[in-house]
Amino acid sequence: MKGGVGIVWFTNDLRLTDNAVLMHAMERHDVIVPVFVLDIEHYRSEQFGFRRMGSRRLKFLLETLTDLQRAMRERGAHLQVLVGRPTDVLLDAVKRFGAKCIYVKKEVGYEENRTQEEVMHAAWKHGAELTSISTSTLYHPQDLPFGVRDVPDVFTEFRKRVERETHIREALSAPERIITAALDPTSIPEGVDLGFEEPVHDSRSVLPFVGGEQSAFNRLHYYFDESLLVSKYKETRNGLIGGDYSSKFSPWLALGCISPRSIYWELKQYELKHGANDSTYWLVFELLWRDYFRFAMKKYKQKFFLLGGIQEKPVASAQDSKAVQQWVDGSTGVAFVDANMHELRLTGFMSNRGRQNAASYFCNDLAQDWRIGAAYFEEQLLDYDVSSNWCNWAYLAGVGNDPRGNRYFDIQKQAKQYDSGGEYRKLWLDSTKV
Ligand SMILES: Cc1cc2nc3c(=O)[nH]c(=O)nc-3n(C[C@H](O)[C@H](O)[C@H](O)COP(=O)(O)OP(=O)(O)OC[C@H]3O[C@@H](n4cnc5c(N)ncnc54)[C@H](O)[C@@H]3O)c2cc1C
Repeated sequence: MKGGVGIVWFTNDLRLTDNAVLMHAMERHDVIVPVFVLDIEHYRSEQFGFRRMGSRRLKFLLETLTDLQRAMRERGAHLQVLVGRPTDVLLDAVKRFGAKCIYVKKEVGYEENRTQEEVMHAAWKHGAELTSISTSTLYHPQDLPFGVRDVPDVFTEFRKRVERETHIREALSAPERIITAALDPTSIPEGVDLGFEEPVHDSRSVLPFVGGEQSAFNRLHYYFDESLLVSKYKETRNGLIGGDYSSKFSPWLALGCISPRSIYWELKQYELKHGANDSTYWLVFELLWRDYFRFAMKKYKQKFFLLGGIQEKPVASAQDSKAVQQWVDGSTGVAFVDANMHELRLTGFMSNRGRQNAASYFCNDLAQDWRIGAAYFEEQLLDYDVSSNWCNWAYLAGVGNDPRGNRYFDIQKQAKQYDSGGEYRKLWLDSTKV
């Protein structure tokens, strides 16, 4: 029976379209309280000497919240953006509104799950339940042809089985009206108010990324219908410079400004109009990697954060602060790696080709503890996503889901192949170093 107040705890599902958490709560309650918690203490906390969130990603998050607040206001609702610890903020809301349920997106990350468990236990003590709902993958976990424990350890096996044996659900429409309890409007702080530095925009950035659902759909419409670039994706995806070589959907996907299902169904529409080809298929193929790592992390949980990874293998564990610092600063002397590391530090983005080379160099050539590199990427990346980051790093360190074991990249060969004229290196380095 419908009734009472339900709290919708937004985390990284910051959208109205295809948001199963929001729709689930609205089906069960007359009135909802939408809340986002800015857990600044957590964002500032460090691992291996790096913050969990850098100022660029914080800015992107705050822009996203501003956009979500605007979209809610247009539907008669108010999003509460509150600074604090999730348990404290949500318990206050439970008590204030007499809510019996909190709804949140299901998580796969170890720390994210621990936070949800803390909230769940605290809420129980006040007679409220926490319900978590899957909403971030292309394939719904309930539709997988295997249970979580049996998720194949090899991507190709996973891909072939899901493609053959299951289907992708329709995306949900955004609600036309949202009824919230009487709420005071909350304002969204600036990063500097929260103790973060103001990031400087670098004109060499692949895109001037702006957070929010609206910008996510703008980018999708540009990449699909306006430019038809998606029809060439398979040939261009190893590029290094500019906005057009790949979709650049990742920062929006990471915060859930857009769902992979929305992208998939928009792509199907595109294929009806412009035709399907290897490139349009390849975009889905890449989104399947994203799904795969999410399910792999659900299976192996905290093992993905251990040095030996899911294979429990002995690997390099050096922590040479000088070597790490040179890598971070882009002063290793290996121009292709250095150029990529400059791009990451100055823009918050790095191409997939760059990430593979920079990470392989860190694990194999420098032979450092791979988790330090992953922690640095976590701080810097605009599109940081717990499973995509840590599982890709584990893969390159040879302790993840790679059937071939150690995936070594010959950096000089890669630079020659993907930056043959040295344009990318020239863009990011003094010409004397190229
Ligand atoms: C060491 C390392 C760390 C990474 N960390 C992250 C991360 O924190 N967040 C993140 O979103 N991606 C991560 N990736 C994957 C990939 O590099 C980025 O998703 C991609 O470069 C983003 O650009 P794009 O949106 O233009 O991708 P496109 O090439 O246009 O691909 C479309 C989408 O497919 C997904 N995708 C593509 N490649 C991968 C992949 N290898 N693994 C998982 N998903 C993929 C992404 O959601 C991407 O937006 C990492 C890769 C490596 C090698």
